[in-house]
Amino acid sequence: MTPIPRQVDFHCHLDLYPDLEEAISACEDTQTATLAVTTTPKAFRRNLQLSSKSKFVRVGIGLHPHLAEERWTELPLFEVLLRETRYVGEIGLDAGPHFYRSLDRQTQVFRRILSACAEQGNKILSVHSVRTVSKILDCVEELFPMDAGKVVLHWFSGSAAEAARASSLGCYFSINQAMFRSERGLAVIKTLPIDRLLTETDGPFVEVDSNPIRPGDVAEAIRLLALARGYDADSMRKQVVINFVALVAQR
Ligand code: MN
Repeated sequence: MTPIPRQVDFHCHLDLYPDLEEAISACEDTQTATLAVTTTPKAFRRNLQLSSKSKFVRVGIGLHPHLAEERWTELPLFEVLLRETRYVGEIGLDAGPHFYRSLDRQTQVFRRILSACAEQGNKILSVHSVRTVSKILDCVEELFPMDAGKVVLHWFSGSAAEAARASSLGCYFSINQAMFRSERGLAVIKTLPIDRLLTETDGPFVEVDSNPIRPGDVAEAIRLLALARGYDADSMRKQVVINFVALVAQR
């Protein structure tokens, strides 16, 4: 059985740090339950091997929407490797200015991944949803029934109405410190169900004082979340751990 973690980093690209083994050790040392997301199926095995002795790191198989156009041919490999893990990510859709051109390909990839996850069952997905929350939820509703697993919306940037719909579909939300920079983001965070909140770093993409955030460094996310929700920081940290334990216990 895995030990109860001290804190939760449910979306971190450990393999995009200069030293993957050191990044894994950082999560172990701080007892941070970490979802190590990957961006291509080919990156998955090395993450899985290096974290095989870890008590706190879980590895997701991913195909990032930014890479869908160049890597969609790795889908058959994705489906094979999917059998080796309960965790999936980073996957999703991005209709932002740099990526909307590949939205058809992204959608094709995302739908196929959702179907494979539903077929295998008991999966937990970390999902990117930039400017595509409604579309993501339409796909989830159609292809990934609630008894097939759980969806965690990473760096959610949708509206309060979209958040409410996501909640009713059973989604969780992983919250990072950068999300609080936006007034609109903060307003939506205040509406999310308290028992669906997780924390994440999205390292190394989130920066602290112009340096990449450290894996597992969720202290600031916890502090800001506590402030937004009227908790003290330690109670907020514990609530997130409880949410994480409930998430992974479900089957
Ligand atoms: Mn990410």
